[in-house]
Amino acid sequence: MQQITQTTTPTTIEQRIELYQLVETSLNQMFSELSFCKDRCIPRDRSYMGNSHKNGAIGCCHQNFYRLHIPLYKDIDQETATNIKHRFRKLQEENLITRLLEPNSEVKDYLNDNYRTLKKCSSHSKEGCMIAKFKSPTCVSYTCVPIERELLNVYNITYDRLIIIDFLDDIIKGKVTLEQANNFNQLTNQATKRIKSFKQDHRINIKEEIIISK
Ligand code: SF4
Ligand code: SF4
Repeated sequence: MQQITQTTTPTTIEQRIELYQLVETSLNQMFSELSFCKDRCIPRDRSYMGNSHKNGAIGCCHQNFYRLHIPLYKDIDQETATNIKHRFRKLQEENLITRLLEPNSEVKDYLNDNYRTLKKCSSHSKEGCMIAKFKSPTCVSYTCVPIERELLNVYNITYDRLIIIDFLDDIIKGKVTLEQANNFNQLTNQATKRIKSFKQDHRINIKEEIIISK
């Protein structure tokens, strides 16, 4: 299989998916370290999201965005878009099935109580999203305003989800090199380390702004 080099853009669908997963993993790690949704919103009676009267489980999750909505693919041909969409769904399903088979996990809650009725996306649980990998750009990058404020005001990290969604979309379109993805991941990893360190010791220096951008 052709390797992705630092400076060439990925040509095959497999290479794009590989690059996508690299970036998705580093963003997941940052949000997991922040743990904002799980600790601060999902347990609430009302979501942090805008005018929502829904339980905190509803964020980007008011629809099944994981189904990789096609409008994002306006710059690529229909066949490639459909192909990528099918691959992603298959990978998501495999991943979800693995999680559903795990005993003693949050999945039990998800299956046993009536939480399902409180949410719109069927992949949402009390522990957050059930799909751990290969989510759509919307799902991977989503932050509501309270999260963006928290990142900026507490950790001095600038995060603009519209920029990130474009970046993820560009990966799918084959416009992002490995070098660009690595640069992006370095910023995200730096942000993750800062969140972790700050939670352990509020005296650490966070004067330098981290701007997560492409
Ligand atoms: S993204 Fe915002 S609204 Fe959605 S679950 Fe997280 S904190 Fe709540
Ligand atoms: S797949 Fe996950 S992140 Fe995306 S809408 Fe559903 S629950 Fe939310």
